[in-house]
Amino acid sequence: MTGATAMDLKTLIKDVPDYPKKGIIFKDITPLLSDARAYEETITRLAEPWKGKGVQVVAGIESRGFLLAAGVALKLGAGLVPVRKSGKLPRAVFGESYSLEYGTAAIEAHQDAFPKGAKVLLVDDVLATGGTAKAALTILERIGGKVMGVSFLIELDFLKGREKISGYDCRALISY
Ligand code: AMP
Repeated sequence: MTGATAMDLKTLIKDVPDYPKKGIIFKDITPLLSDARAYEETITRLAEPWKGKGVQVVAGIESRGFLLAAGVALKLGAGLVPVRKSGKLPRAVFGESYSLEYGTAAIEAHQDAFPKGAKVLLVDDVLATGGTAKAALTILERIGGKVMGVSFLIELDFLKGREKISGYDCRALISY
């Protein structure tokens, strides 16, 4: 491909007002995912800053985070760790509850998801208030991971999620 720019990717993210609740503008990334070139460009650019940094596992947050984390893991030659919604993983987990831009939730990961000291990258689609990422980072560190950083496709600047995860190397491809 000839290299989609940040603006190209932005045109494939659709605003859905008042979804799933009044006042929320939902960022729908499905048009981007279904465009082969844009999807590939997204994965390439999400992985780019972490190349050569020895990332051993990429953790993705259910469920849209999985769609990005899997590709990034393959690009980096790393494993994939799903951070799932409560009650989905079959073995012993570490879990965290947190509040969302639109509600509350709980996520968890297997206690033995990776060896202690493993270099971990966290990937998700949207950084909004930062509660989800913060909870995921807490879990990853409880497992014993050495967090290298966090990569998002989209950052909603006005919600200041970055402040909640200050201290981590945080990257986003697109911001609003
Ligand atoms: P937060 O914990 O507030 O940073 O919310 C981040 C999580 O909620 C991500 O996993 C997103 O998938 C989802 N999310 C929050 N706000 C939005 C939004 N406006 N559009 C799409 N997804 C969102």
